[in-house]
Amino acid sequence: MDIGGLETVVANSAYVSARGGPGAGRDRRSKAQLRLPHISQCEALRTSFRWQCVEQPIGKLLFRRFLEGAPQFAAAGALWSEIEAFERCEDAEREGTAKRLRSRFFTGHDTPKAAMPPPNPVRPRPGSPLQGDAFAQARQELLAHLEAAAWAPYRASPEFSRFVQFKWLESQAVNADAFVEFRVLGKGGFGEVCACQRRATGKMYANKRLNKKRLKKRNGYEAALVEKRILARVHSRFIVSLACAFQTKTDLCLVMTIMNGGDLRFHIYNVDEENPGFAEPRAVFYTAQILLGLEHLHQHRIVYRDLKPENVLLDDAGHVRLSDMGLAIEIKEGENKTRGYAGTPGFMAPELLKNEDYDFSVDYFTLGVTIYEMLEAKGPFRRRGEKVTPEVTRRILHDPVSYSDKFSAAAREACEGLLAKDPQSRLGFRGNDCGQLKAQPFFKGINWGRLEAGLVPPPFVPDPRRVYAKDLADVGAFSTVKGVELDGGDAALFDAFASGTVPIPWQEELIETGVFDELNVWGAPGTLPPDLDP
Ligand code: ADP
Ligand code: MG
Ligand code: MG
Repeated sequence: MDIGGLETVVANSAYVSARGGPGAGRDRRSKAQLRLPHISQCEALRTSFRWQCVEQPIGKLLFRRFLEGAPQFAAAGALWSEIEAFERCEDAEREGTAKRLRSRFFTGHDTPKAAMPPPNPVRPRPGSPLQGDAFAQARQELLAHLEAAAWAPYRASPEFSRFVQFKWLESQAVNADAFVEFRVLGKGGFGEVCACQRRATGKMYANKRLNKKRLKKRNGYEAALVEKRILARVHSRFIVSLACAFQTKTDLCLVMTIMNGGDLRFHIYNVDEENPGFAEPRAVFYTAQILLGLEHLHQHRIVYRDLKPENVLLDDAGHVRLSDMGLAIEIKEGENKTRGYAGTPGFMAPELLKNEDYDFSVDYFTLGVTIYEMLEAKGPFRRRGEKVTPEVTRRILHDPVSYSDKFSAAAREACEGLLAKDPQSRLGFRGNDCGQLKAQPFFKGINWGRLEAGLVPPPFVPDPRRVYAKDLADVGAFSTVKGVELDGGDAALFDAFASGTVPIPWQEELIETGVFDELNVWGAPGTLPPDLDP
């Protein structure tokens, strides 16, 4: 047989054997790639009304546009916007705004006008000030009405088709090529954190790299997955958000909110070394933002465990966010406590040190230590630079805390409430929020609705020309990892980590950089833009 004939025989035999029946010749590696993702990776595809029309920023904008254009829903859409405006307004404007809202949308004090759902604004008790959440119940009823009446017609609308187009864009794979890298901002346990910029939108982020081999060598897989999962689940102005998670040949990458203003520890001690610590109003502002971050974590059943000034980072405007979820843990559904020794010496709560089961209470103890340190420029249980000894633990368990005259009566009361040794009597998270703690005299100057909406101007704005990070030479390099080989089992884990784009931050980025408006183009009224015309 000549060579040509032999080639044909070989080719035919491979072809015939591949045809040999279902599953014949199936390649093992490719087969391994075909597996169901973890359900948490599919959240974006779930179609609850809340998720589709309220929680996702682009989803909400398009749903609102649909309401505006539909005669039977326009009033409900306007009421929704007005309730949100009420929740963000200044204390002094609250009465007037509520009055206008009622006269526009309600016939009696709480009887809605025709063609409207029955929202039911809470009638304030005579003499008591109107709270920012006075229309919370009305909003809930309104959304229930929209879900029942408007959601189905919305899903048949061009606005919804536009939403689906954005979801398609969002689901496209991301990798390192999507970003330009800049200087190192800090050093973590498994790799560097660098500034980076998404090429397509110009938005700056911080990229936290976790070296694959270093993770394997130091058993870091579980912690890396937990940190990623937690960051992807929480969406708060007071916690760094995760924009996406991807991998390179050597690293796992977490792309997060960039915080250019340095950490609170730096600002407490290194800005004015003659006079360290903050004046009380500044400490109150940071504490209130930290508290909103903690409340959000706890509402998602996450115990942070590592609150301390070093983990609270400032952005360009001077707002703060919690960072480094590496020690955080989720309390399992159906349980109400967790356990485990984790945290930073001098901050850890008595119940944790005593090796008891604990819950969110440990984070309010660390909040107390953090407030104390902001005001006093010294921890309540550990002197700066003091070695960690059993003595520090003994003080936390047994010694009363002493307060200098840097503490006002209100500051002292807040610290005492938070530093209570017994978690039962400590201030904290009760009935799914921190209402009692927020009502402390320490926070009397805080408008929680405006703070939540990012509308309270920070007491200190970082210098935009200054780089609040160590000089490159002081960051220090990593040594190369030797004696570790990666295999197929590792690859499966890396794939689980690299879950790609997180919907809410990606949509916020598009809106805030103007890209959403650029893309969201509509034709003249009554016509469809070409990309939506069937
Ligand atoms: P690790 O958990 O490994 O300790 P961190 O999350 O604490 O890593 O990050 C290491 C350092 O990188 C931080 O101390 C800080 O200097 C810097 N850093 C971390 N996250 C950000 C961010 N979002 N923006 C700016 N710098 C950051
Ligand atoms: Mg850290
Ligand atoms: Mg960490």
